[in-house]
Amino acid sequence: MAQNLRKALVEFQQHHIDQWPTSPLVNYFDNESWLQQQDITSSDYPYIEPLLTACFQEWLLQIAEFPSLQRGILAVFNWEARLISSADPSLIGNDSSVWDARVVSAVISSKRPHADVNTEATLVVPLCSRSEQEVFAILAYRIPLESYEPGMLDMLSMSAKTFLNCFYRMFEFIFIKDLMQLQNHADREARKKTILFDVVQRIHGKFDVDSVLSEVIESISDLYPSAALELHISSDHRSTNQHVKPLVLHNLTDNISVRAFMEGRMIQETVTLPGGNELVHIAVPLSGKQGVYGVLYLSLDGQWLEDLDFQLITILADTAGTAFENAKLYEQSNMLISELRLINELTKQLNQSLRLSEIFNFALKELLHIFKADFCSTLQLDADKNLFKVMSSNVDAMSKELYSTDYGFTGLVYATKEPLILVDYSAFSKVKSVFMDETQSRSLMVVPLVVNSEVNGAIMLSHRDPNYFSYDNFKLLQVLSTHIGLAIANASLHAKVQRMANHDNLTGLYARHYLDDRVNQKQKIDFCGSLIVVDIDHFKQINDTYGHQIGDQILRQVCEVIRTSIRETDIAARWGGEELAIYFPQLTKSQTLRVAERIRSRVEIETNPGVTVSCGISEWNWDDDKISVESLFYKADMALYQAKNAGRNQIQVG
Ligand code: GH3
Ligand code: MG
Ligand code: MG
Repeated sequence: MAQNLRKALVEFQQHHIDQWPTSPLVNYFDNESWLQQQDITSSDYPYIEPLLTACFQEWLLQIAEFPSLQRGILAVFNWEARLISSADPSLIGNDSSVWDARVVSAVISSKRPHADVNTEATLVVPLCSRSEQEVFAILAYRIPLESYEPGMLDMLSMSAKTFLNCFYRMFEFIFIKDLMQLQNHADREARKKTILFDVVQRIHGKFDVDSVLSEVIESISDLYPSAALELHISSDHRSTNQHVKPLVLHNLTDNISVRAFMEGRMIQETVTLPGGNELVHIAVPLSGKQGVYGVLYLSLDGQWLEDLDFQLITILADTAGTAFENAKLYEQSNMLISELRLINELTKQLNQSLRLSEIFNFALKELLHIFKADFCSTLQLDADKNLFKVMSSNVDAMSKELYSTDYGFTGLVYATKEPLILVDYSAFSKVKSVFMDETQSRSLMVVPLVVNSEVNGAIMLSHRDPNYFSYDNFKLLQVLSTHIGLAIANASLHAKVQRMANHDNLTGLYARHYLDDRVNQKQKIDFCGSLIVVDIDHFKQINDTYGHQIGDQILRQVCEVIRTSIRETDIAARWGGEELAIYFPQLTKSQTLRVAERIRSRVEIETNPGVTVSCGISEWNWDDDKISVESLFYKADMALYQAKNAGRNQIQVG
């Protein structure tokens, strides 16, 4: 019957294509004539036996009130004259011997009712199809001869019409039922397709990764409310949605999600439950154009799953994969933009200062803010001592501390020149760290500050929570540390050049211009100050006697005496040739005289070959008529001149 039904359905759809399938199916059956034109054909005959049996039983009840049909045995045969059902149950099945097969067959070919009256009477009536008038079954009535009456064949023929009515009513019912089922199926498919269309549109409307994932989960829950659902994501994406889980790839090759991910295709497994129901596990990769991002995993009752569902789930997974990829790219480009802004801002700020301490402090403040870290320390390598010095830190115990280059995490970074990230210090026993212990931190990032492929320092960032820093944080810190490293290298270089420019090469004392500048500055802010000008006696002679190299050596010895005779705040400079000058901020000439005397006597004793020096002292204070570097020097020079004239190796105060 199925074949015929499909044909009818196609016909039906063709005739009612305009309304199909939006208006309810039942409308089409208001027109009874259409339904009554539906018929069985010879291809349906092999399948109608159950219908004939059911119909026969109902028909027997209907004819129960006709006494003339109660006197013998009634039976129904199929279109091949095989007994299907009989009013006497003992005759059903093989025992058709009581019936005369020839009589039944004859009626099939003649298509006309027939009464065979012999030792008993057998009345046979054909049951013909509506349109073709083909015999699809036979009704037969066998009665003892004494019960036979003429007219009984007509009676049976009339009753056969009731049978036919009953048969076609049942046929129409089944036809409609099948049709309804087909339409329900079509409705379900249409509904799923509508949902899919909606979902695809909604998913593509999302720009952030979490929303895409949530949308996928919600849509699938809508489509398959009873399904257990998980999204296994392979990247380090953290989601608040409980259905989103990380895809753990190691040691789990028998896991269906891992297999789907590895093989890049849908994998399904069916498990038969104890009650006989089937549970279907489905894992579909979430693929985009550039890769596979995870797996959509579903487990649901197999009863309602059709081919369409698998197609639907695949389309959803593909859509989700592409949307996930787009959202991820969008997120990444946004992050990249904000990172670039940050780097730009940071380098601008860093380059505003050439002072090392300022840069280290600025880096500390910024890094704590950018990474929302709990603690930070910046360290610089003292290459001479081979120690790391803490330059800035919000950990008091570490401030200004020195650490060996083979100690702790900075030691590790120093040795490998590689950055490191630690997810949980409490589960890590290989390296001890004051920084981590002191702060009770568990997450850590350490990056080296590398300049010209040498580790020049390090940055440590920590947080009390484990697993706090993301891989993106780690990458960003590396980028930032390059810029911080460069700024520090710049500042160091600047300081070095500055030092060189401000110092005299031979003696290590300040250069004359530096002294000039400093005295000038001091005269603007201080109340008083004094100056000694020191000149080596008969130095020309020394040079002539011992040569210039020894002369230089003596000059350095004299400078060393000066350096060790003054305070750190005093400024000693090479004024020119073998003349040296020392400025004493806030000192009067009488105080300075004592220092000059110390220098003079020490030079006399400590130089070898021995030389002496003459000194001229001058001073200024705030109520002088004219305060200038030049007049201060002039006065000291004058005093020196007097000292020379007075016999050398002495001090004159101007
Ligand atoms: P006086 O006691 O009058 O100062 O005699 P003097 O020989 O020191 O005379 P003066 O100060 O005029 O001469 C300075 C000499 O110092 C001239 C120069 O040969 C020498 N001199 C200047 N600078 C240097 C230097 O950097 N190294 C050496 N070796 N000699 C220098
Ligand atoms: Mg001299
Ligand atoms: Mg001189």
